[in-house]
Amino acid sequence: MLETQLEPPTAIRWDGRQEEAVRSRKRQANQYMRDALRLLDPDELIPFFCECEDTECFATVWLTSRDFDRARARPAQDLRAHEEALLAAAGI
Ligand SMILES: [Zn+2]
Repeated sequence: MLETQLEPPTAIRWDGRQEEAVRSRKRQANQYMRDALRLLDPDELIPFFCECEDTECFATVWLTSRDFDRARARPAQDLRAHEEALLAAAGI
């Protein structure tokens, strides 16, 4: 009988590059979501991923496509679920 030895799963270690890759993926997914829903009513709320660097965070940021476009007009700005109050205060 053939025996297969399975390696125990190794813990995922995140370094700065992986965190940046995850953040970048979330931004890309958000853009796909936005593009796919381009014809939606601009006042309809769309769920986007939080774009913070926390690799465990998949919190939702609800924005209209109009607000998403406004946020993307500032490329350095990420969508963050934890800072929705700040975004609202900034008029986004
Ligand atoms: Zn987050």
